[in-house]
Amino acid sequence: MRTASRPEWHQLRHPGFEQKIRTTADPAEAAALGLDEWRKLPRAQMPPWADYSEVEQVSKVLEGVPSIVAPYEVDQLRMRLAEVCEGRAFLLQGGDCAETFADNTEEHLLANARTLLQMAVVLTYGASLPVVKVARVAGQYTKPRSSDTDALGLPAYRGDMINSLEAGEQARVADPQRMIRAYANAAAAMNMLRAYLGGGLADLHAVHDWNRDFVRTSAFGERYEAIAREIDRALAFINACGMTDDEALRTVTLYASHEALALEYDRALTRISDNRAFGLSGHLLWIGNRTRQLDSAHLDFASRIANPVGVKIDHKIPSAELLAICEKLNPDNIPGRLTLTCRMGNQFVRDELPRIVEVVRDAGHKVVWQCDPMHGNTHESSNGYKTRHFDRIVDEVLGYFEVHKMLGTHPGGIHIELTGEDVTECLGGAQAIEDADLATRYETACDPRLNTQQSLELAFLVAEMLRG
Ligand code: PEP
Ligand code: MN
Repeated sequence: MRTASRPEWHQLRHPGFEQKIRTTADPAEAAALGLDEWRKLPRAQMPPWADYSEVEQVSKVLEGVPSIVAPYEVDQLRMRLAEVCEGRAFLLQGGDCAETFADNTEEHLLANARTLLQMAVVLTYGASLPVVKVARVAGQYTKPRSSDTDALGLPAYRGDMINSLEAGEQARVADPQRMIRAYANAAAAMNMLRAYLGGGLADLHAVHDWNRDFVRTSAFGERYEAIAREIDRALAFINACGMTDDEALRTVTLYASHEALALEYDRALTRISDNRAFGLSGHLLWIGNRTRQLDSAHLDFASRIANPVGVKIDHKIPSAELLAICEKLNPDNIPGRLTLTCRMGNQFVRDELPRIVEVVRDAGHKVVWQCDPMHGNTHESSNGYKTRHFDRIVDEVLGYFEVHKMLGTHPGGIHIELTGEDVTECLGGAQAIEDADLATRYETACDPRLNTQQSLELAFLVAEMLRG
């Protein structure tokens, strides 16, 4: 039951100037909230910073800058994710595997945002539910790596916040000053997205027109024609009712997310408001599959902030460990606080996901379930590219929906690596990209992303699954 005193997410506003947002420079306050406990704990994927005193100087700078996002927005997202948790909304998260400073351009940001919005319209219709839109943007500048060295024997690239993608010993040195560049780029990206989204980029009619273009030009367009036509009719109905100018049809909120890997950065952008700590480097922060150890620095930091947090999990996670993660990150069982992002691979999802969902459900933990069909489905192409096949991606999402249907749980959302450009990084789809085509436009700084067409195709297929 909702109580009258609890505001709806869209009623949440910044409470005004009485509520001070403080930097956490006051050590007693930070200590009381345990914000630096992570520094004493084991930490996987630690950036190999050469000179830690420089990290400390940079942290001081970042402790004094305006944050990327605001506390009320973070609470708002948690409330919207509570709706997902309770089966009344769907979560769409997506963007680059690794953002780069070089690609932090208007063109790239807008193309990615537009693709995400196009997917969201199709999913909103398919699910007949609101879609919460979260971009991997404005801070997705760190990467966990499976090996400390790359194919050339150089220190691995760890994301633009840490070192450079350029192939050279010097370029790969972990440079703390890059955290400042990451902050500047993140702030610029967020500023630009807020401006465009508030100014009509998200106009429902325009977004749907782009989808119509996609359906017209896709080789498999016929399959998607029916849904597109139904959306046409729904929009015509809205127009006929005179709701064309409704604010809700013209603007959307796009939340920012990234992996909290370089903890110095996320800690330095943490602020205290109303006695709660907020990681204001982004709205949603997630912990990767390689850094989610129970006693780890990463889990500890995530446990101290009020943000909605995600944890990536593969099929090998022991049930007891999974329950301990839920307990640690969401001891008060607040819906929307914790998202479990399952990334198992299409060959495991049907056999292993049921155990995972059941154990969490039976223990009474309220979580948002999310399927990342990208990270368990990576392979090397015959010509040496790290790639993913569209069919396996679709099959993992299909398996995920089957499992949730079988268990009567809500298939809360999906998490995709995509770009709004016509890259050739993932195989298959209506364009039938093959190994030999990968070289044409393989541009990712890390993992292969779905291109615009593949992303929209996936959205139409997921819309079909949502309609059951
Ligand atoms: C990622 O999302 O880019 C990533 C590294 O994921 P995971 O932690 O699931 O491997
Ligand atoms: Mn990735």
